[in-house]
Amino acid sequence: MSELNSAKKINMANPIVELDGDEMTRIIWDIVKKELILPYVDLNTVYYDLGLENRDKTDDQVTIDAANAIKKYRVGVKCATITPNAFRMEEYKLKRMYKSPNGTLREILDGTVFRTPITVNCVKPCVSNWVKPITIARHAYGDLYSATESKIDREGTVEVIFTDKSGKEEKKKVFTFEGGGVIQCQYNTEESITKFAKSCFNYAVDMKQDLWFSAKDTISKVYDQLFKETFDSIFENEYKEKFDELGIKYFYTLIDDAVSRVMHSEGGFIWACKNYDGDVMSDMVASAFGALAMMTSVLVSPDGCFEYEAAHGTVQRHYYRYREGEKTSTNSVATIFAWAGAFKKRGQLDGNDALVEFGEKLIAATVKTIESGKMTKDLAAITTFPNPTVLNTEEFILAIKENL
Ligand code: NAP
Ligand code: MG
Repeated sequence: MSELNSAKKINMANPIVELDGDEMTRIIWDIVKKELILPYVDLNTVYYDLGLENRDKTDDQVTIDAANAIKKYRVGVKCATITPNAFRMEEYKLKRMYKSPNGTLREILDGTVFRTPITVNCVKPCVSNWVKPITIARHAYGDLYSATESKIDREGTVEVIFTDKSGKEEKKKVFTFEGGGVIQCQYNTEESITKFAKSCFNYAVDMKQDLWFSAKDTISKVYDQLFKETFDSIFENEYKEKFDELGIKYFYTLIDDAVSRVMHSEGGFIWACKNYDGDVMSDMVASAFGALAMMTSVLVSPDGCFEYEAAHGTVQRHYYRYREGEKTSTNSVATIFAWAGAFKKRGQLDGNDALVEFGEKLIAATVKTIESGKMTKDLAAITTFPNPTVLNTEEFILAIKENL
């Protein structure tokens, strides 16, 4: 990179949409840009400040504008942001309790979130045969998360009634209770399932990795069956040829079979999960692979927009210490990988090889730094590296810069 350092910076024909954020991750965002990006890239971004103060100032319009900009330019990178609660209302003297920015972005971009652990040779996964990362693709719409529930407190019959537009009713008996109990009614839509499936197939093609999809269609012969059939028919009609060309596979299996296969696998594939399964399995996969800060996250929309971010939050506790003038040892890996992902994607879309290569170098330099024993406190606590050097937030980024 030294020749780039002096004169020639990498050009960008099209911008990346940059979404700045809050607290410790905002501090990291700044250092990463200053030390690892601006010296090498003639950075072209469309900047949106999603820091809580500016969201409040703009009545959250800035989040909506940022989402629309990602739709326009197709690649975005986001810093972690605060989702306000009662405490934050007081802390920031907010006008109202804004929704989660990630929720707003997901609503507008309508995508699937893919989460992948970042692996290094000195942090061993709990499952010893996992040598490659496993990416979880979680359907983030419907099912349990928008279910209607009721408590039953006496004898009686539960029925569901579907009323069509003309007013015609169809009734189905659910259960006759002889005493107390509970019921739950879930739904999903063909549109959402179709978009979920397409995002997953697109991502598998993009990553050149096998796609697994699991559900429980043997028991759920209508509900989960619709998921299975949607995936099957979209694959056969739209993706099979492309998969064959790339030498990758799609396969469906029951969720319980998938769980045991995942445990015995060596990793290196995408596992598409229904909403609840994805919630549970992504926590399992993340913690089995290592630390919270070693996880990337990308939102992929069905029409091919990509928004990269770190999977962790704003690391509030570290920020409060930082504000007191203390040095923290906050891990910037997921933030650096988010930028690297955005550069690689921008480069691919624009045919800009230098930018793709820069993204790859950023990743390689980060991994090399950790594998040489220089790391932040969270990794030092779990590494197999003997006597690692624990660096503070800024020192760690500067150590990566040396390898870059
Ligand atoms: P967090 O920021 O993920 O941090 C929880 C704890 O995990 C930290 O206190 C720290 O543990 C550890 N940790 C997380 N990231 C780390 C890193 N990069 N380096 C070192 N340690 C790290 O979650 P939170 O404190 O519960 O949430 C803070 C704010 O983030 C909230 O306002 C929430 O709304 C927001 N949030 C945003 C997103 C997003 O924008 N995508 C996601 C989740 C949460 P130790 O303190 O033990 O060192
Ligand atoms: Mg969870």
